[in-house]
Order: sequence, then structure tokens, then C-alpha cells
Amino acid sequence: MSGVVLSKIVKKYGALQVVHGIDLRIDPKEFVVLVGPSGCGKSTTLRMIAGLETITGGTLTIDDRVMNKVAPKDRDVAMVFQNYALYPHLNVAENIAFGLRIRKVPKAEIRKAVHDVAEILGLTEYLARRPSDLSGGQRQRVAMGRAIVRHPKVFLFDEPLSNLDAKLRTQMRAEIKRLHKRLGVTSIYVTHDQVEAMTLADRIVVMNQGVIEQIGTPMDLFNNPANRFVAGFIGSPP
Ligand code: ADP
Ligand code: MG
Repeated sequence: MSGVVLSKIVKKYGALQVVHGIDLRIDPKEFVVLVGPSGCGKSTTLRMIAGLETITGGTLTIDDRVMNKVAPKDRDVAMVFQNYALYPHLNVAENIAFGLRIRKVPKAEIRKAVHDVAEILGLTEYLARRPSDLSGGQRQRVAMGRAIVRHPKVFLFDEPLSNLDAKLRTQMRAEIKRLHKRLGVTSIYVTHDQVEAMTLADRIVVMNQGVIEQIGTPMDLFNNPANRFVAGFIGSPP
């Protein structure tokens, strides 16, 4: 079974269980949005897929390969964070190139890859700048560039737009959608913003207190919410 498959995934922090055996199957090229209130386990779930948190129980596979014990760098996933996590002492080109450099990709190949990614994201004229000399939107583009440049099988986004103002957020949302159309990479996107979920998702996964309440297309959830929680969450304004 290709794609990303979570089977009975459990996460405990010590005695505290925060993810309660979730099942989720994400098809290749699908854009799935994980929504739910703060503290419901969205980031934890994403971080387990990335390999940044250990999996307490259950099985994670990506394209049929069990990933539970595979190191993050060997998972072929790339994550984009809310706080960008750029290296302040490196310029834009070096930030984008970082993941390739540590994987010992040849220099000429890196140069071309950085150029191509900068072109796609409209960063060509900013390649020599430090992150501190960029706007929030540009920083987020660099963070995406760093993910894209490796051609991962899976993109993971953890509230990537929540530090941006409303106007930029709308613009970047459109940009992420365009990128997904163009690159067709399987994407798992975490947000607590219903509008973002409704506009970006092929399917939405509604989480609450470490369980999945419902999985469906935006229209499914809007028209046929499984329960009051889903109805309230999808129906109410952000
Ligand atoms: P969300 O991303 O949906 O806001 P998280 O996945 O960050 O939620 O957190 C889920 C729950 O796990 C919360 O109750 C949070 O306090 C707890 N949690 C997250 N990380 C840790 C950690 N490193 N140690 C202990 N508890 C944690
Ligand atoms: Mg979170």
C-alpha cells in the first residue's frame, strides 16, 4: 500500500497519553489537513511521521516501508515549521542548500537545485540575503524552498502560516496550493484555522483529544458532520 499509513498510532509522554491509537491512510499526492483545537495532538502526530518524536505504539509506513525506527533523515519527508527554523548566519541560498550539503550532494547539482527552487518561489533576487533581512512571507518561502529542494516523498507542514498577517496568509495559502498542483507531493498540513483547512485540503482529518473524530472531504464534513464537535469546529468562523 503506497502512501503514508498510520495504524493504531499511540503516543505517550511518560504516563500521559496524548494520541490514542489513530488510523489514517494518506494516498500518494493527496493533500490532507489535520485540524483540531490546541493541544489535541496534531503536532505530535506530525512529529512522529517526521521521526522527531518516538512512536509509543502502532505502525507507521511510508510506501509500505515500516518507519517506526527509521532516522528522520532517512524517511524522505521534509517538514516546514511555523517559526521557519532558518539558520540566521546562513544566507538564503545556503539555507535552501543546507539539506543537500549535509547529504553530500555535488556542488554543481546543489547550485542548479537552489536556482530552480528560487525561481519557483520567487526568491532569485534574495539569494544573498540573511533571513533577518527578509519579510515574514519571504522567510516562509525560504523554509518551503528548503523542503522542496530535496524532492521528498512527503511534505509535513506545522501551522506554517500562523505567524503571518491575514493578507500574507491568504497569499501564501494560494502559493502552497499552486506548489502542490505543480509538484504533486503528498502533503500533511496541520492547522487550527478552518478556512485554511477548507481551502487547501483534499481531505480533512478532524482531531480532538488525541483521537480522530472524522475524516472526509471539506464538503463531506460541512454537509455531514459526524458529531457536534465536527459541526462546531468546521462550521464556526476561525
Ligand atoms: P497540538 O499541536 O494539537 O496543539 P500537541 O501535539 O503539541 O498539540 O500536544 C498534544 C498534547 O501533548 C498536549 O497536551 C501537550 O501539552 C502534550 N505534549 C506535547 N509535547 C510534549 C512533551 N514533549 N512532553 C510532554 N507533553 C507534551
Ligand atoms: Mg501544534
